[in-house]
Amino acid sequence: MPELPEVETISRDLDKKVKGLIICDFWTDLPARNIPHPPALQEFKKEIISRKILRVYRKGKNILFDLSGDKILLVHQKLTGHLLYGKWKIKKIGGKYQVSSLITGPLQEKVNNYIHLIFYLSNGWQIALSDLRKFAKIIAGEKKEIENLPEIKNLGPNPLKVPFDEFSEILKKKKGNIKTVLMDQEIFAGIGNIYSDEILWQAKINPFKSSSKLAKSELKSLYSATSNILKKAIKLKGTSISDYRDPSGQSGGYAKVRKVYQKEDKPCQRCQTPIKRVKIGSRSAHFCPVCQRL
Ligand SMILES: [Zn+2]
Repeated sequence: MPELPEVETISRDLDKKVKGLIICDFWTDLPARNIPHPPALQEFKKEIISRKILRVYRKGKNILFDLSGDKILLVHQKLTGHLLYGKWKIKKIGGKYQVSSLITGPLQEKVNNYIHLIFYLSNGWQIALSDLRKFAKIIAGEKKEIENLPEIKNLGPNPLKVPFDEFSEILKKKKGNIKTVLMDQEIFAGIGNIYSDEILWQAKINPFKSSSKLAKSELKSLYSATSNILKKAIKLKGTSISDYRDPSGQSGGYAKVRKVYQKEDKPCQRCQTPIKRVKIGSRSAHFCPVCQRL
């Protein structure tokens, strides 16, 4: 699933490309569960069409479009969704839609060709959602209404903006293991499976360590690792191990420099011990059993 660096990359890139443009039309073949509110597609269209895009930004793993008339369009890409910027044509063949990119290059790659939704823009270009598994969620409505949705209102602070004292206070109060705590969107917004593994390796903290038992020195290393890893990943435009691509359809560069995520049995880059993979709840954690002792 795209995490903070991937969603930040998409939001920043789209902001540069579409700010000031008007949404002229909209197409989708997604089922109603992907666009849960307002319930009818006609009402959804009414919320977004003929509105100007004022700004594109990120909150946690959500992409938000501020629209004229005090409206917000929210996209949560979930597992395999990613927004692209290009031009596509739609053909209906045997009752099914076939969407193909008119722009040659990365946008024509298979991973970018599960197009299920298109916003048509006033400059002739389009924003499209490629989503293999079709779990993405798209919601439009009044600014206040969207900001009050639990998935926005209940988000914890941005881990890149929270001061150290607040960061430590939050973690000291949490009883769970640090890996699960870091991934909880209501504690810090935006960190998921990939970056929690990478952050804990850099900070030399075992994923099973109880959050409330972290020593001051560990909190300090964790704080700087969180900032370093996330900033580095944003600079490299995210991790493309699975479906994520940037809006031009290209892979991010972080996968090449990652230390532990999905590197089971590969030597630790600090001490050469094979990286271990363990289950924590329903997720996997990758760590070095020597550098990250419990
Ligand atoms: Zn090691």
